[in-house]
Amino acid sequence: MKILRRYMFNRLGNFNYLIGCEKTRQAIALDPLDGEHMLQLAEQQGWQIKLIINTHEHHDHIEGNPVVAAATGAQIWAHKNALGKIPNVDHGLVAGDVVELGTIRLTVLYTPGHTPVHLCLLAQADDYNPQPVLFSGDTLFNACVGNCFNGGDVDTMYDTFVSQLLPLPDETLLYPGHDYMKNNLAFALSRDPGNPDALHWQQQLADTEHDDMPVMTLGQERLYNPFLRLHSEAVRAQLKHDFPHLGEGDRDVFKALRALRDQW
Ligand SMILES: [Zn+2]
Repeated sequence: MKILRRYMFNRLGNFNYLIGCEKTRQAIALDPLDGEHMLQLAEQQGWQIKLIINTHEHHDHIEGNPVVAAATGAQIWAHKNALGKIPNVDHGLVAGDVVELGTIRLTVLYTPGHTPVHLCLLAQADDYNPQPVLFSGDTLFNACVGNCFNGGDVDTMYDTFVSQLLPLPDETLLYPGHDYMKNNLAFALSRDPGNPDALHWQQQLADTEHDDMPVMTLGQERLYNPFLRLHSEAVRAQLKHDFPHLGEGDRDVFKALRALRDQW
């Protein structure tokens, strides 16, 4: 499995992905925004796009569907609850489904919270991938989590994190739907001042362009992403300052962080 990640330079800072099987030269376009760009990329690689998958229904994750579908005949797949929300979905996926294309094997995780229909895709480590890979859409970002503004629900998001994402192994590579890493690191440091890993990456990436941002592992994220550090004493102490009546539960901490990030 070869993963091409491209920054879209749109206001929302999307990443588009082309996931290719180098053996069969077939590919999946994930969350295409700029369909023409995805077609060009596939042509450069000598790949045929066979499938379009959308992590969720927001316009910036589906806008390229018609161009790619018309040019390639690729089917559009999304979570079954996205039928009727995303135009022309050919097949509805559910948790546990395995999308297979050539040597590519992607397991569907149902991950509502950012929206009710959100899915993530997980590639287990196998002969073709030394490390597991998570395509997280707008659920988990570098140093943050997705918002719940447009049809989402923060309690559901928390449940998704606990049940689906936190159990994934440290070596899992993270491929999110947007690049907000620098801004998110600044937020992380506002909640956890002096966090050495957040400071390290903030300095390290100061001059890094979007397309050159590093692919982080979940183990690395656990060191600086406050939403994965709900037990951190520093994070909790700072929150108590802002929310004197904050409960002790992880859910309370998660929701308080998300509420603060909403206004960041
Ligand atoms: Zn979204």
